[in-house]
Amino acid sequence: MAGSEAAWQAAQAGVPVVLHEMRPKVGTFAHRTGNLAEMVCSNSFRSDDDENNAVGLLHWEMRAAGGLIISTADTHALPAGGALAVDREAFAEEITRRLRSHPLIEVVEDEIAALPGPDAGPVIIATGPLTSGALAEAIAAETGQQSLAFFDAIAPIVHFNSVDMDVAWMQSRYDKGETEEERTAYLNCPMTREQYDTFIDALLDAEKTEFRPGETAQYFDGCLPIEVMAERGRETLRHGPMKPVGLTNSHKPDEKACAVVQLRRDNALGTLYNIVGFQTKMKHGAQTRVFRMIPGLENARFARLGGIHRNTFINSPTLLDAQMRLRSKPHIRFAGQITGVEGYVESAAMGLLAGRMAAAEVQGRTLPQVPEDTAMGALLSHITGGADAKTFQPMNVNFGLFRPVEARGGRKGRKERYKIYTDRAKAAWREWLTSFEPQPATAD
Ligand SMILES: Cc1cc2nc3c(=O)[nH]c(=O)nc-3n(C[C@H](O)[C@H](O)[C@H](O)COP(=O)(O)OP(=O)(O)OC[C@H]3O[C@@H](n4cnc5c(N)ncnc54)[C@H](O)[C@@H]3O)c2cc1C
Repeated sequence: MAGSEAAWQAAQAGVPVVLHEMRPKVGTFAHRTGNLAEMVCSNSFRSDDDENNAVGLLHWEMRAAGGLIISTADTHALPAGGALAVDREAFAEEITRRLRSHPLIEVVEDEIAALPGPDAGPVIIATGPLTSGALAEAIAAETGQQSLAFFDAIAPIVHFNSVDMDVAWMQSRYDKGETEEERTAYLNCPMTREQYDTFIDALLDAEKTEFRPGETAQYFDGCLPIEVMAERGRETLRHGPMKPVGLTNSHKPDEKACAVVQLRRDNALGTLYNIVGFQTKMKHGAQTRVFRMIPGLENARFARLGGIHRNTFINSPTLLDAQMRLRSKPHIRFAGQITGVEGYVESAAMGLLAGRMAAAEVQGRTLPQVPEDTAMGALLSHITGGADAKTFQPMNVNFGLFRPVEARGGRKGRKERYKIYTDRAKAAWREWLTSFEPQPATAD
């Protein structure tokens, strides 16, 4: 996805591109064909609502920028309500044909096993969640083992403004921290014994997903799914991530909780909080139901749900600059899922930016900063600095990544707020696209 879009954008700007793809010579457990831009699982680009949905807004921005992935998806769209679903084979075949027939693009079928040196010129690594072993090793050698993950163990992320603060309270365990901000860094949700027991029952009963063949994970300490912890013993969680010690309920100071669920700030804006230690293999429907049993989270809206998947990604907030370049080797850019965005659309979007940035560099220009108020800019800012590097996990685009706007509360207020976000984003994106000289477009 990202590599195809990046190649297209750079070539459309007039810059020659060599696109290396290891398939079909070297396969992965998820891909089935040798086509470029193969959709490995769902055939959906998710919501196409560009007024009320952040991923729909990203579609809009990609269309405005002449995106190859989105325009080909539009050509091969299938009826899917408000979603943009596509005929996956026709889609990938057309992308492959358009890239292979572009006069400025050469497609080479080979595996890249080492980081190209500066002589190669600007390089974009967009090898995705299933980056081949040799290249992953080379990346780890350059960035440090700690900066490359092979699984994402994602805890659910909640929009702060959907938490009931009449129940939850802000406090770090044992009030640790030098500043008031640090002493109140966590959001705490208390449980009585009865609530805890009901929660454990629901967790044990919930439907779970299985690993695919070839994806098997050895769970490592500190990364066990909560349901696996609960299977090991009903009290395990209240001695682990749900331990109630060092915390005093500010609403009911005399009441000792049996267990406390903690949420930690997930972005610099303070609009998103992740549920600490709650990585899970529960199915999405079950997660929403079970997590809304947590006192204070009854009406929680989830920016993303939890999961554990095979996924290779780098610690972008520490490794990449605002131009998506590797700080230690600035001739190399990263794009796509390997940068810690999640999903076909987000990956293609980061490819679009990386392709344009690399092309501008070849032409001796630097693109102006991508506006933070756009979906593109919000995602880019998140991965290159806004996210907490210590807990960095792949992220879908969502309005929690945007600078907040004021609007009424309730359902009506939410719709109003989304419209303000999307109007603001569209204006900023239009301005960005026209703020630099249009580049020569070559024939398709
Ligand atoms: C099992 C699975 C299911 C998924 N399901 C969904 C879903 O339903 N919806 C969704 O939105 N997202 C899904 N994703 C995430 C999805 O993979 C990404 O969103 C998207 O494909 C990532 O785009 P990308 O361009 O970063 O990587 P990819 O689309 O994977 O492209 C990377 C390309 O690089 C090639 N490559 C890897 N290593 C090398 C190398 N060393 N040399 C040369 N080429 C190499 C690969 O063959 C691949 O073609 C899923 C991911 C996985 C692993």
